[in-house]
Amino acid sequence: ISAGCSSTGDVQGPQGPIIARITDYIYLGNLNAAYSGRVLCTNGIDSIIDVSSLPRDRSLSIIPCTCGRAGFRHSWPRLRVDIRASLHGGHHEIGQPCFLDINECIEASVEKGKRVLIHCRDGYSLGPTCVIQYLMVKHSMGLLAAYGFVRARYPLNIQECHQDLLVALEMSLQPGTASLACLKHSLSRKMAWS
Ligand SMILES: [Zn+2]
Repeated sequence: ISAGCSSTGDVQGPQGPIIARITDYIYLGNLNAAYSGRVLCTNGIDSIIDVSSLPRDRSLSIIPCTCGRAGFRHSWPRLRVDIRASLHGGHHEIGQPCFLDINECIEASVEKGKRVLIHCRDGYSLGPTCVIQYLMVKHSMGLLAAYGFVRARYPLNIQECHQDLLVALEMSLQPGTASLACLKHSLSRKMAWS
C-alpha cells in the first residue's frame, strides 16, 4: 500500500455536496451529498453504499430534508463496507468479499429499479473505483472503457493503490491481453487518472 492511499483531512471537508448519475440507477457522490437529506431526496436516491470507513464514533447523521412532500422517501438504508481494512490486509484483489458484497447490492438495486448512491470519504477515488470495478465485472467493460465512462460523468482522482487494484482486476479478467507495465503506461499516458 502506498503511503498516499488512505484518505486524510477533515471528515466533512470544506466542499459542498457533489453527486452525479453514472447510470440510470447508480449514483456517485461525496460525503456531504451522502449526508444531505435534501440532495438524496431531490436525486430520488433509494439506498446508500458507504465505503468511507468512518469510525463508528465519528459517524454523521443525515441533515433532514425539509421539503415535506408526501410520498417522498426521507430515510435511506445504508450499507457500510469497510474496504480499507481489507486492503491493508495486503491483498490487492478485487475478487474479495467486500467487492462481491458491493456488486450484489448494486445488482439488487438495479434489478428493482432503485437508485443507489455509492460514496467514500473524499468522493474522488475509492467510490469511483467501486463503480469502475462493478462495470468491469458485471458489464464486461475493459478498464479503459469503464474508467472513461465514469470520468465522463463524475470528477475523478484515483489514488495509486486503487489504480493498482483496477489494473490487477483487468489482468485477471482479460489475461494475456496486455502486460501490467503496458497497461499502466497507457493509462497514465492517455488519462493520467484524472
Ligand atoms: Zn424531501
